[in-house]
Amino acid sequence: MTRVQVSKHVLVNVRRRSLCDNCLEVGCVDPRNHRVIHCEGHVAPFFVFKKCPRCGKVYEIFSDIASLDYDICPECNHAERHG
Ligand SMILES: [Zn+2]
Repeated sequence: MTRVQVSKHVLVNVRRRSLCDNCLEVGCVDPRNHRVIHCEGHVAPFFVFKKCPRCGKVYEIFSDIASLDYDICPECNHAERHG
């Protein structure tokens, strides 16, 4: 579990194990032994938007559960991982 600072007084818990752990979809068959990264039926518990401090893009923090650093956008995470 990672805590993401959204604004001065708001912290959001993001469960990194699987997108399904951050999903409110009723009746979703959670494949317990799989790490789900993308799911078309995903329903985020809330929409949390942050502005990336690197590129300025506004992104939704659950948009890429595989991000290593939720304080920057998925693209900047990708750039970080792959040079
Ligand atoms: Zn960025």
